[in-house]
Order: sequence, then C-alpha cells, then structure tokens
Amino acid sequence: MTKTTSENIDATESETTTESALTTARRQLKRAATHVDVDDGVVERLKHPTKVQRVSVPLKRDNGELEVLTGFRAQHDDVRGPYKGGLRYHPEVTADECIGLSMWMTWKCAVMDIPFGGGKGGIAVDPKELSDEEKERLTRRFAEELRDVVGPKQDVPAPDMGTDPQTMAWFMDAYSMQHGETTPGVVTGKPSVIGGSYGREEAPGRSVAIITREAIDYYGWNLDETTVAVQGYGSVGANAARSLDKWGADVVAVSDVNGAILDSEGLDTKSVMGHDERPGMVSGYDAPQRLSNEELLELDVDVLIPAAVGNALTADNADDVQADLIVEGANGPTTFAADSIFEQRDIPVLPDILANAGGVTVSYFEWLQDINRRQWTLDRVNNELESEMLKAWDAVRDEVEAHDVSWRDAAYMVALSRVATAKEERGLWP
Ligand code: GLU
Repeated sequence: MTKTTSENIDATESETTTESALTTARRQLKRAATHVDVDDGVVERLKHPTKVQRVSVPLKRDNGELEVLTGFRAQHDDVRGPYKGGLRYHPEVTADECIGLSMWMTWKCAVMDIPFGGGKGGIAVDPKELSDEEKERLTRRFAEELRDVVGPKQDVPAPDMGTDPQTMAWFMDAYSMQHGETTPGVVTGKPSVIGGSYGREEAPGRSVAIITREAIDYYGWNLDETTVAVQGYGSVGANAARSLDKWGADVVAVSDVNGAILDSEGLDTKSVMGHDERPGMVSGYDAPQRLSNEELLELDVDVLIPAAVGNALTADNADDVQADLIVEGANGPTTFAADSIFEQRDIPVLPDILANAGGVTVSYFEWLQDINRRQWTLDRVNNELESEMLKAWDAVRDEVEAHDVSWRDAAYMVALSRVATAKEERGLWP
C-alpha cells in the first residue's frame, strides 16, 4: 500500500482535510482541463460562476421573534440551458459551497447530455430546528427573494440536503401566486399530484445502483458475490442500497448520523427505515453488530458508497479505506487529496457527477412533463432513466479506455468538452 502525503499530490496547493466544495471543484476542473483540448479562456471563465445571489430571508418564529437568515443561489453556467440544481437547508451553507456545488451541477448535466446548466442554492439554517410552519414561511419568503432569478426557462431549483417535495410545493406555490399562473416547471422534485414526476425521489439512489452494477460488471465481478457498505441512509443511500439488494448484492452495513449497523450475511434493506422515513431508525435497528460512522468507511467490503455529506473521505482516512471500489452517492464526498490517494492505491472512484446524476435526469423528465402538461408512468421514467444512465456510462467508459484516466477525469472530459464546444459555437457576446 502506498502512503501518500501532500507533497506528491500537488506541490503548489496545500492539502487540507476540510477543503471547501469550491476548492475541490476548482482543483478538479484544473486537472481535467489538462486532458482536454479546450481554450484556456473558456477554462478560466468556468472557474467562476455567472452570478451569485445573496439574500436576507426574514423569518417569524412560532414564538413571535424575528430572525434574519441568509440564503444564496449560485448560477454557474447556462450555455447549454437553464441553470439547474438543488436548494439545501443546512447550517453550513455558504456562498462558496453553493458555487462549488453549482459547478458540479454544470458537469453533471453535461455528462448526462441534458439541456441544463449548473445552479445551487440554500439557506444557512438547521431544518431540524424549524417547525413545519416555520419551514413553510421561510420557503415562501425565499421563493419571493429569488423570484427574479428563477423560472422554468431561467433557473430551476430542486430538493437537496434538508429540503424535500413539500419544500418544492411551497416554493412552486409562492412563485405561481406572484406570477398569476400555475408554473409547475419553476422547480422539480415536487409531489406527483402537482406536476412532480413519478420516480424522482428514488432516482439519485437508483442511478448510484445502476452505475455500481455497471462498474462491477466492467471489473468482471459478480453482483451476487458483492458486499456493499453505504454511509448515509437518507433518500440517496437507502434507494441505492435497496436496488443493489434487490439485484443480488449483499448490503452488509449502512449508517445514519448516529452510527452504523453491520450484518455480514446482508441486511434486509427494506426493513431498515431510511433517515427520512423514520429518523434514528438505522442506529436503533436490531442488527448483529454496531459500528461508528468512521468504522463503516474502513470496512473490508467490495463497494463503499459514501452517500451522506461532503468531505467524508479525506487525506486522514483514505489510506484506511479497504473497499475495492468507491461509488459517490453524495455530492463531493471525496476531497481532492483523498482522490489522489485512491488513484495511487488503484481504488477506482465512480464520481458523483455520473453516479448520482439520476436525480437531475428525472428532474429533466419532470420539467418536460410540466411543459407538456402530461405525466409519464413510473415504468417510462425508470426505463428512460436506465437508458440515459447507460448512455452516459458508455461515454465515460470510452474515455477511461481511450486515455487511461480515472473515472472522475473521464467524466470531466466528457462534460468539459460538451460545455466548451457549446461556448465556442456560441462565442462571446458582445
Ligand atoms: N440536488 C440534486 C443533485 O445534486 C438534484 C438537482 C436537480 O434535480 O436539479 O443532483
């Protein structure tokens, strides 16, 4: 096993274990640009967002007190179509985090070849400390503050950490009331009765499972003999685990914020309730063994799926990871430094911008359904998702094979050349 230090990763940039999403995203872009024949000016432009909206969001708490929270919407690039990406409610939301995450959305939409650019936003708030009524008032006011910069043809938000279909319903209603017409296409990830798509909630986890299945096949392993550990059992982690379990893999360990459970025979992933379904149920589950979240990351399994938060895999723990394959369920779970360690240790990392892209892909299907005012069946959604994921997988795998690069570099090469070509064709105005 090769021990890696900061000196042999990038001598010009010091390694930190808590690098921001923006730092990671910029380092990844810089590295990917060396593999693609793209104009330096275009790369320079893509290091920066087009616009970052910072808004104050006043909230009347249930006890009558007024609190002023800060919200953001970062719009990275829209050369291929409207900005697209989630809104997160989390205490650590910052402008830089939103910018980094919006860059990843640009690449994610381009890898999938869907006609959107990248956006991301959120409010620095702990949603667990808000009542439903407070969350509703906050969301409606946030929608009002962002009204001029969002819209079905401009920028289309969606759920992310701490937000859900109900949040999108409030956002859509607030926007529609001010516009004087019902505008379902202003957000995706809505409840299906008001223009949401069937299968949208399960889609990011489903795509993680599809990419895991394809990677297992690519390396000549057998899904029936594969062991999987999933960090984070929210919507992404639980849906990925359940699909892989259904297709024959042994999901031996899963975790939530309070800890992890392990059953070397394979857990019954359906009976373990997700963090969104019943908070606290994972660590409260009657399993043969309990572990800490950190121990789960270091289990000797075939596949590790970090599906909880950003920066889960860092220079501090990357050397201790024993999995043979990592598939990113969360956005940005691997720091740039950890990525280099995995590369030196020959542990393939299937990147977020491909693996969890099922979410934004079904968001695109939802947007089409909203524009056409015609709902698709769940079967149609899942079939089209499967074929879009396989198309993207093929494009990325072709780059891996042609240029002997990492999966992340390959995904960036596909994305960056699509975005750069679009920029070159459109040219600079004025
Ligand atoms: N928040 C999700 C993501 O990070 C979905 C974005 C969307 O559907 O627009 O991919």
